[in-house]
Amino acid sequence: MFQKILIANRGEIALRVLRACKELGIQTVVVHSTADADAMHVRLADESVCIGPPPSRDSYLNIHQIVAACEITGADAVHPGYGFLSENAKFADILAAHNITFIGPSGDHIRIMGDKIEAKRTAKRLGIPVVPGSDGAVTEEKEAKRIAAEIGYPVIIKASAGGGGRGMKVARSEADLVVALQTARSEAGAAFGDDAVYIEKYLEKPRHIEVQVFGDGAGRGVHFGERDCSLQRRHQKVWEEAPSPALNAEERAHIGGVCAKAIADLGYSGAGTIEFLYENGEFYFIEMNTRLQVEHPVTEAITGIDLVHEQIRVASGGGLSVRQEDIRFQGHAIECRINAEDPRTFTPSPGTITHFHTPGGLGIRVDSGVYSGYKIPPYYDSLIGKLIVHGRNRVECMMRLRRALDEFVVDGIKTTLPLFRDLVGNADIANGEYDIHWLEKYLAKED
Ligand code: ADP
Repeated sequence: MFQKILIANRGEIALRVLRACKELGIQTVVVHSTADADAMHVRLADESVCIGPPPSRDSYLNIHQIVAACEITGADAVHPGYGFLSENAKFADILAAHNITFIGPSGDHIRIMGDKIEAKRTAKRLGIPVVPGSDGAVTEEKEAKRIAAEIGYPVIIKASAGGGGRGMKVARSEADLVVALQTARSEAGAAFGDDAVYIEKYLEKPRHIEVQVFGDGAGRGVHFGERDCSLQRRHQKVWEEAPSPALNAEERAHIGGVCAKAIADLGYSGAGTIEFLYENGEFYFIEMNTRLQVEHPVTEAITGIDLVHEQIRVASGGGLSVRQEDIRFQGHAIECRINAEDPRTFTPSPGTITHFHTPGGLGIRVDSGVYSGYKIPPYYDSLIGKLIVHGRNRVECMMRLRRALDEFVVDGIKTTLPLFRDLVGNADIANGEYDIHWLEKYLAKED
């Protein structure tokens, strides 16, 4: 087991990882920018190292400073959290070269899944169902037209190097396609420095369903069920739940089994998420995230398993603590992402939190790094906390969520709490009837 883990992140996830380390009796080092000297994860860590000024590229993305912080403090492993360097293959390789363990998969696996064309090819080879489309990059107009005619319109053109929902164009006819291909390529080139694009069938009303997987790096793979993250705004997840209201036990076991086998065959190590669009009973792979996800607590709630403990165990060579048959699903969990944003316009609302009171009671978990008197710096993302509610079934979970949202107080700044108070009373949400466009349409109506 590791003696000392350096946490290369900030905010709620830094605290989340720190808690797991404490439980496992592992010493913690946190790094922070000058803007985060007062952050909760800095206060609670055994040691902290200031690695630079506020902008992420000078601090949380500064590989040299982080490696130096490991060497100064004698950390033998790094947990990257999510975002920042968590899917940076070069960072994983550099740590390996310094004999520091990266708590995550190999640099090569990060690289494969970071390239969307390569990821899709790999998924297909491993028996994961993918969206019908081109086999690789498409450059010629003629070829694009042929593929689109074959799979049928509408189609979507996506950048191989894309991310965060950027670099995608939908074409509903051949005339659209010609323009979309050109703009997608030039935009991808400008945004990502790589103009490779590929074509897929455009699904009109899918749900976003993702499977939590784990590999032990020695050829064993398991799945921890799925999460439904269809409620999104601008491709950002807002509300996540497990299990998905749309799946039955048979579909769950089937797609879980396919993913677990793929992870085993790949020889993957650590936590991963295989993301699908789901429509008319079919799953279509879109991408794999090679890290812990923001929404991992809903899976923890329904399985009772600490996924960060598992990450640390696997990275230290101790293997997974569970076999597939030990993983049982109990009840229902929902997570609301509470952002420091205006609930109507979604513009960021940094500033000082004058009062912060979190709900409690059975089935309630709040993961947050903020506190009364905390000043939210304007440099980073606006997530200030996650409310995760668990109940024996979805109805009980929703009842409890409504009550927890009523108790939650954040004064001094604007937050997205009012949005969730609206959603929890909505009939479609209560019935679990929503797709990936539902929230945007709902918000447009409210305006
Ligand atoms: P990114 O890495 O940029 O997030 P993804 O491939 O995960 O890109 O796609 C982001 C979002 O774009 C999906 O969640 C979905 O809303 C939409 N999308 C992607 N592919 C398709 C498709 N084939 N049909 C319909 N929507 C799609």
